Amino acid sequence: MHSLSRISAKFVDLKKKMLAFLIIAILPMQLLAEKPYVILIGLDGFRWDYTDRGISPTLEMIREEGATALSLHPTFPSKTFPNHLSIVTGMHPENHGIVTNGIRDPFTDTRYRMGNNDAIRESRWYLGEMFWETAERQGITTASYFWPGSELPEDHRRPTYQEFYEHERPYETRIEGLLEWLKKPEEERPHFMTLYFHEVDSKGHQFGPDSPEVNEAIKLVDGLLAKLLDGLEEIGMHDKTNLIIVSDHGMTEVSTDRAIDIQATRLADYTCIYYGNGPFLLIRPEDPEQTTEIMARLNENPEHYTVYHRDDFPSRYHFSNHPFIPPIIVMADLGWSVFDSRMLARVKRRPGAGNHGYDNFHTDMHGLFYAYGPAFREGYRTGTVNTIDIYPLLCRIFDIMPRQNIDGSLERIEAILK
Ligand SMILES: [Zn+2]
Repeated sequence: MHSLSRISAKFVDLKKKMLAFLIIAILPMQLLAEKPYVILIGLDGFRWDYTDRGISPTLEMIREEGATALSLHPTFPSKTFPNHLSIVTGMHPENHGIVTNGIRDPFTDTRYRMGNNDAIRESRWYLGEMFWETAERQGITTASYFWPGSELPEDHRRPTYQEFYEHERPYETRIEGLLEWLKKPEEERPHFMTLYFHEVDSKGHQFGPDSPEVNEAIKLVDGLLAKLLDGLEEIGMHDKTNLIIVSDHGMTEVSTDRAIDIQATRLADYTCIYYGNGPFLLIRPEDPEQTTEIMARLNENPEHYTVYHRDDFPSRYHFSNHPFIPPIIVMADLGWSVFDSRMLARVKRRPGAGNHGYDNFHTDMHGLFYAYGPAFREGYRTGTVNTIDIYPLLCRIFDIMPRQNIDGSLERIEAILK
């Protein structure tokens, strides 16, 4: 036989062998391999360093035994809805569409506002694909016990099982509800679930990050995590369930002594639409022609804030490329606040001691990322990870295809996987 054809014959033989190996060994393994279980737990406003206070034994146990990051770098703005959506879409807010907690669509003069159930259930605001959409389309049953963006009316845009947000719903009830889902017969049981606790954020806003009230809240949610672990143990799911515990942002101390009424002190001569308020103020001049003039006015001796035109906003913030972001962005220095007159008056009536939404590169704005369970390395600690990388991580854990147009990257986070 000619040597070349002998080589190619060998090659064909090798290919056949590999194919046989695939059929005999790998395919049944895939079919038999149990789909993983993942619970994504959002601890709103839980700053990354809260676990150093020595009052959260469950989280400290997870830090010892699981895979944890030094901190979680949120997207800008470091606000609740933009970041919860970044976690489940792998996109920056300018791409997933939920650019702030309150959005105004200048073309139709309609509004999206956290807390307004009609608005938050309108699909048109959500331009990203949420993880449960990706997963359900690829055969993974999902469930949400609260998560921003999980309440859309279209079947294909929401999890199989869901609860509609109810702020006062007791935390224990949420855990029990989730455990009920896991008690379902295997073929109906969800494999991906979300859970959400707002306690630490609420107390942080009201009393400030260093308050005894925040410490009580930390203890409370830590106890809830212990309850969840006990519950998983009781139903025999502990060893097969992965927990990914995250927070959307951190918290820093604020005071009305460090608040500036931008409208009254700078822009009394102009008519503008203001939103944002606090860590940043977004301004849309009623007359777009006045934009340059208004920016010049704001830039006369700016104290404790920086002014940007949307198009020149530093690219690291990824906060330019969406038509609902107004042309002028005023960013307050950490701990300072910028307001329109109406909002400042309102805040002065009920001042808070903590806030977030500031520069997401400041570590006070960083959240928590702790992962624990069979998918993750044990006792592994990595540096800061990114909110936008959680979506590709979830896709990897479930071995499904992520959307191609995301901002996140698996490479930056996959070292935590076994
Ligand atoms: Zn939040």
